[in-house]
Amino acid sequence: MRNKIWLSSPHMGGAEQKYVNEAFETNWIAPLGPHVDGFENDLAKYTNSRFAAALSSGTAAIHLSLIMLGVKPGDEIICQSMTFSASANPIAYMGATPVFVDSEKTTWNMCPESLKEAIKDRILKGKKPKAIIPVHLYGMPAQMDKIMEIANEYEIPVIEDAAEALGSKIGNRAAGTFGLMGVLSFNGNKIITTSGGGALISEDEDYIKKSRFLATQARDAAPHYQHSEVGYNYRMSNVCAAIGRGQMEVLDAHIQLRRNNFETYKQFFSNVEGISVLEEPNGSFSNRWLSTILVDSAKTNGVTREDIRLALEKDNVESRPLWKPMHLQPVFEGVPYYGSGVSEELFDNGLCLPSGSNLTREDLERVLNGIKSLL
Ligand SMILES: *Cc1c(COP(=O)(O)O)cnc(C)c1O
Repeated sequence: MRNKIWLSSPHMGGAEQKYVNEAFETNWIAPLGPHVDGFENDLAKYTNSRFAAALSSGTAAIHLSLIMLGVKPGDEIICQSMTFSASANPIAYMGATPVFVDSEKTTWNMCPESLKEAIKDRILKGKKPKAIIPVHLYGMPAQMDKIMEIANEYEIPVIEDAAEALGSKIGNRAAGTFGLMGVLSFNGNKIITTSGGGALISEDEDYIKKSRFLATQARDAAPHYQHSEVGYNYRMSNVCAAIGRGQMEVLDAHIQLRRNNFETYKQFFSNVEGISVLEEPNGSFSNRWLSTILVDSAKTNGVTREDIRLALEKDNVESRPLWKPMHLQPVFEGVPYYGSGVSEELFDNGLCLPSGSNLTREDLERVLNGIKSLL
């Protein structure tokens, strides 16, 4: 068997080990320390969001943001349907109900029309949604101008799931900084990794301070252990933050490498009938975390995305269907959904291709040859 080509694997820049050693030498082996502070500063500076809290995961960041918005059992939260389950699971942790909204075809993210329809209908049914969670899938920024306009009209706070979109922008504004709070992830397969970790970013320092408080068991200011609220153990370790600091030094270079992967795929598929890539809308900049294709089997002599996936798998190349929409997941069966079938169609015909910043030219050729042999 030839060596495995992964969808997206960790890619260290070099300085990570030095920062980790520093953590050991100074004995800051704890969920606090100078690297945590440094990493938070790096993130705030990079996204221009003013404040950041480093947490144990992106999921924890979404959970804390819902807690801080005062979400109660039985409340409804609007969430993009086509996403990773981590966008929606924290809604269930709160005992709240997700209301799923379809994607649109330009960015594959939350459809503004379906969002508006959902808000109006939920209000009509007597329940105004408590928050909106749009997602920037695969690094492609959602239509935040339209989404924010609707959210502002109905005065509903937006929690922006930018877990896949560190480094993505609309104009000069970073993904994750349009809503009240933004969520980042540094899981092993994300654009940068701390092995596992996440962050909450915001312009509003109160949310960031409160999230750090809740993430460290909600300890009141007292010499003994005093608690007035339920707390969580959600802080990032200083060792993980050390990795993050090293990763921040190579983030822009790695985005460029991922964008180069996309360009290679785009060029190849421009000569293939029935297979398309997703272009950036005017003014948008994607970090191209994952390069994706849509396969129209009516134009490929019947070759489907599943045929491509299986052919690649045979050659030890990992590829994966696009996110299966949450309204189709057994765990969320029966929850409200608003849309017109866009996310279903994307799921049926879309495929994520190997996209790591550490792929070699030979790796990419192997992927493309595997696909070529089918067509
Ligand atoms: C990865 C991811 C998350 C969760 O982040 P973790 O750090 O893995 O908890 C949330 N939303 C989306 C869209 C993601 O891709």
